[in-house]
Amino acid sequence: MLNTVEVNGFLVENFNQYNLQVGKAEGVCPLCSHQRKAENKNKKCASYDWERGLGTCHNCNKTFQLHTYQRKGGTDKEYVRPSYSPETHKTVESKALEWFKSRGISKKTVQDLHISEGMEYMPQLSAETNTIKFNYMIGDQLINIKYRDGRKNFKLVKGAEKVFYNIDSIIGYNWCVIVEGEMDVCAIHETGIPNVISVPNGATLNHNNLDYLDNCIDYFADKQKIIIAVDNDAAGIALKQELIRRLGPEVCYTVDFGEYKDANDVLLNDAKTLIKIIETAQPVPLENVTTFKDIEDDLQDFVKNGFKPGFQIGLNNFDNIFSTYTSQFITVTGIPSSGKSDFVDQMVIGYNIGHNWKIGFASPENAPTYLHAHKIMRKIWGGMPSHEDIDNDKWKEVSNHINDNYFFIDLEVPSLEAVLRKGAELVKRKGIKCLVIDPFNKIRDANATSADVNTYTLEYLTKIEQFAKRYDVLVIIVAHPTKMYKDSSGKIEEPTMYNIKGGGEWYDASYHGLLVHRDYENKTTKVKVLKVKFQNLGENGAECFFTWEPKSGSYIPHINEDVDLNNPLPWENG
Ligand SMILES: [Zn+2]
Repeated sequence: MLNTVEVNGFLVENFNQYNLQVGKAEGVCPLCSHQRKAENKNKKCASYDWERGLGTCHNCNKTFQLHTYQRKGGTDKEYVRPSYSPETHKTVESKALEWFKSRGISKKTVQDLHISEGMEYMPQLSAETNTIKFNYMIGDQLINIKYRDGRKNFKLVKGAEKVFYNIDSIIGYNWCVIVEGEMDVCAIHETGIPNVISVPNGATLNHNNLDYLDNCIDYFADKQKIIIAVDNDAAGIALKQELIRRLGPEVCYTVDFGEYKDANDVLLNDAKTLIKIIETAQPVPLENVTTFKDIEDDLQDFVKNGFKPGFQIGLNNFDNIFSTYTSQFITVTGIPSSGKSDFVDQMVIGYNIGHNWKIGFASPENAPTYLHAHKIMRKIWGGMPSHEDIDNDKWKEVSNHINDNYFFIDLEVPSLEAVLRKGAELVKRKGIKCLVIDPFNKIRDANATSADVNTYTLEYLTKIEQFAKRYDVLVIIVAHPTKMYKDSSGKIEEPTMYNIKGGGEWYDASYHGLLVHRDYENKTTKVKVLKVKFQNLGENGAECFFTWEPKSGSYIPHINEDVDLNNPLPWENG
């Protein structure tokens, strides 16, 4: 029995949209049969795959979807929905069609992709003007509209959800193409490749946050090959890298447009060249094997600009002595009640605010989760929200921000393997850039090959390092010292990384080490750099001090005479 309700894991909207002979393995082609000579009109030139909901024509060499589908996944957020009417959404007429034609795009493609035209206010002109309307549909829902006027001004609907353009087109196919704009979708569709989508807002150098991927991630679950065909400029490369990080290098392929700027530019030369470029897409470079060409961009950047400054948290005294890259991990230690988990919260809030990083927590010691969330909320709030604040505007703003940026991994038995698997999922689905493991001893490596503490620790940290590198994430591990030592006066001595169970492995394997230590006499908290792997990122042995503000639970830099703030940062030398 054929499933007419669900195909490819999607609910069917319109089963058998072309009225073909249901269940038959071959038949006419809905794309070309009606145009063929009378004696060929009934030829069975297409084969139908009812399991996948796809058809393939051996006459016109095109593929097509047998059904249309309802939206899958998505979001519980409220978005503006653009309205649709025949007055605002006119069929594209001759003048605009001429323009499409000048870009190599036929009337058929304009119709296939449900493009319309109509008057629209464009802020760049401060006036209404005729625009092309690229309708962002999912199923039969209009989600967003990209307007484009004759002067190449663009706008999306304010407050509407961002999703991929033409996302329905990839259902059923085990491969798809991602491009940087709607005209590139048109260009590739024109060549007969229908399963092509575009990011909604082009590429930018910074903040490729890809929220639209969160909302559409289910559409990629069955893809074995994702061809990323974005522009070959700095912004396009940044977008490509983030797409590869999120979708996974094992399924991603990239293209070389050579002398051309983008897909539409190639089409203006000829369609065959464009098809060939898509067909010869190359898998992203092998992991663990680096060729000079792979790193030439990084190397050129280094020659031009020297060492890149690391990422900082926005607190001057700490930023002066420590920074980090992603693909690395930081070990944070300190005796119980020193405030190390709290300082880690402060750090990740700094990364979130300063660099838009999303954060994953695996913090069994911070349970229950709502109390941990309360701590985060207070720091972002800058105070202690009272019960009168509940559901006011600030409450909504802060809680929405936490909901979109902080994710709490909540496993019954939090093994290392399970935590890293969830972490990988959070990279894919939410784009996290930082994962906190707090504490090390509560998240056991159940697959360890040895009970020997040194071997166990080394294996553990190796798995963390592999995860950090593979997903280009910063990992922060909180680890308690084993024993506390008191000096002759009875004062607790500061632990070092050698006081963590597993001893020297921690110092050797960690990229960076931080100590959080409370000075009860001076009522300050000291943060000390126990290790920093690269000299340009910070200063070994350097210290900074904080006071703790109890309402917000925030660390406030405490200026101490011992610290010379006039020292230049290591990367400012020379
Ligand atoms: Zn055909």
